[in-house]
Amino acid sequence: MCLPLCSWFGRKDKQQQQQQPEEVDPVPVPAAVPEKAKMGSIVEDIEIAVASHATNTPFKVLVIGGSYGGLSTALNLQDLCSGRAPRCGPQTQTEEQRSQPNVAVDITVVDERDGFYHLIGSPLALASEGYAEKAWAKFDEVPALQPQTCSPDAKIRTIQGSVRSVDLASKTAAIQPHGTLAEDVAERVEIKYDYLVAASGLRRVFPVVPQSLRRKQYLFEAGDHIRSVTNARHGVAVVGGGAVGIEMAAELKLVQPQLKVTLVHSRDKLLSSEPLPDETKDKALELLRETEVDVLMEHRLDRTEDMKDDDHHPSGKGHLKLHFTNGHTMLADHVVWAISKSVPTTSYLPTETLDEEGYVKIQPSLTFPEHAPNSGDHFAVGDLVHWSGIKRCGAAMHMGYYAANNIHQRMLQKVVPDHQKPADLELAEIPPMIGLAVGKKAVSYWPQSGTASGEDVMKAFFGDDLGFTICWNHLRLGGYDVKAAA
Ligand SMILES: Cc1cc2nc3c(=O)[nH]c(=O)nc-3n(C[C@H](O)[C@H](O)[C@H](O)COP(=O)(O)OP(=O)(O)OC[C@H]3O[C@@H](n4cnc5c(N)ncnc54)[C@H](O)[C@@H]3O)c2cc1C
Repeated sequence: MCLPLCSWFGRKDKQQQQQQPEEVDPVPVPAAVPEKAKMGSIVEDIEIAVASHATNTPFKVLVIGGSYGGLSTALNLQDLCSGRAPRCGPQTQTEEQRSQPNVAVDITVVDERDGFYHLIGSPLALASEGYAEKAWAKFDEVPALQPQTCSPDAKIRTIQGSVRSVDLASKTAAIQPHGTLAEDVAERVEIKYDYLVAASGLRRVFPVVPQSLRRKQYLFEAGDHIRSVTNARHGVAVVGGGAVGIEMAAELKLVQPQLKVTLVHSRDKLLSSEPLPDETKDKALELLRETEVDVLMEHRLDRTEDMKDDDHHPSGKGHLKLHFTNGHTMLADHVVWAISKSVPTTSYLPTETLDEEGYVKIQPSLTFPEHAPNSGDHFAVGDLVHWSGIKRCGAAMHMGYYAANNIHQRMLQKVVPDHQKPADLELAEIPPMIGLAVGKKAVSYWPQSGTASGEDVMKAFFGDDLGFTICWNHLRLGGYDVKAAA
């Protein structure tokens, strides 16, 4: 069995295999604490020249998406530019790395949400109000993003808004600030950058992912969903036996054991669209049945019929009759759809950088395809890239570190006259691998160790909070030198 962190990363590339993480020096606190920039200062930034770095003009880096991939890029880049070992990379610096000058950089992270949302925890956040509180941390409450923890050379600021378009040739992005109407083009703010990182993931529907953009609103959304399933007298049917459907059904049953939960899947194996061995798929089914979720395999939903309750249920709602193509029917108060295909959020990028499904056609260095204008200054990380492997947050954070390293190398080439051509870290092929929480246990598949399952696998892959603390600590969101809480 892999160690927990390795499990979130997937395969270690050569450079990481050679060096193991070790203790690091604390971050020096800047003497003067800079005021964190707010939305209004973007316009001023446009005025700042970005071309010359012979002086102390900071490089401008725009990161689109403030989740696993985007925050990993921003924070690792901040580390590298201020002379620290990158938090998601090797902790032992070479003599050459120690002698590199600090690089002035302004990093802007733009996200539609007002905080970091632990997406992996969604199945639990939509079953438990207590956990929902924990799963979303507003950016202005994440210690690692606060001005006093930023190095004077490398500042990070966050903006809530949606990137609408990117012009690769002029290196300009148009942002629709949060709170303005999407069609109100006049409200858009243009921002110039030296380097851009697209890390905006996939567009997912409710209830796979809450749709709220502000934490306060999200807590209402999660609470409403939890109450509607709690009152389900005829039970809840989760449609779709992929990873998301399995986790949603299992978490619901775990938090509300009195609730009748049924998972329906059209194929003869769970996880049927994943390139995983049958042993892993069979184990997932076994664990799901252990949680007392009813599982209907080879049941394709044909239609749902609205039914009236024969007495007056306090919810005031009727229920549904589910008709399957094999003639079977069942009742449920609530249907959770876990089958819709998630689509890349790349509509702001030129089509020539995308494949036919909208994924970014990256090179192994995570840069845009060679034919794109300024391709070497544009990077993409995380779920939205066209690359091998099952989409995982560990891969997104790993790519973020690689992009940060490669951007830092390009900056050094500009500020250090004799710096060699950038030594890019290149992404290797990622084989299929998975860690899946199923109630109190988890099942995993790793190429080196095969299929494993049990409570120990759950602990190793997810801790006791569906991976929240593992991710928080890995990204050191509590601060670079804050000791990880167990
Ligand atoms: C229910 C569920 C369970 C999962 N379980 C696991 C698991 O157990 N283990 C695992 O490894 N992976 C799991 N995954 C997959 C994992 O969540 C993803 O691989 C991971 O979130 C990818 O990270 P990312 O940073 O690329 O994108 P995301 O996490 O999707 O983040 C993208 C960010 O970009 C923002 N954004 C989108 N469009 C724009 C725009 N135009 N402008 C500005 N901001 C924008 C979004 O608001 C979001 O914050 C799960 C996924 C789901 C849905």
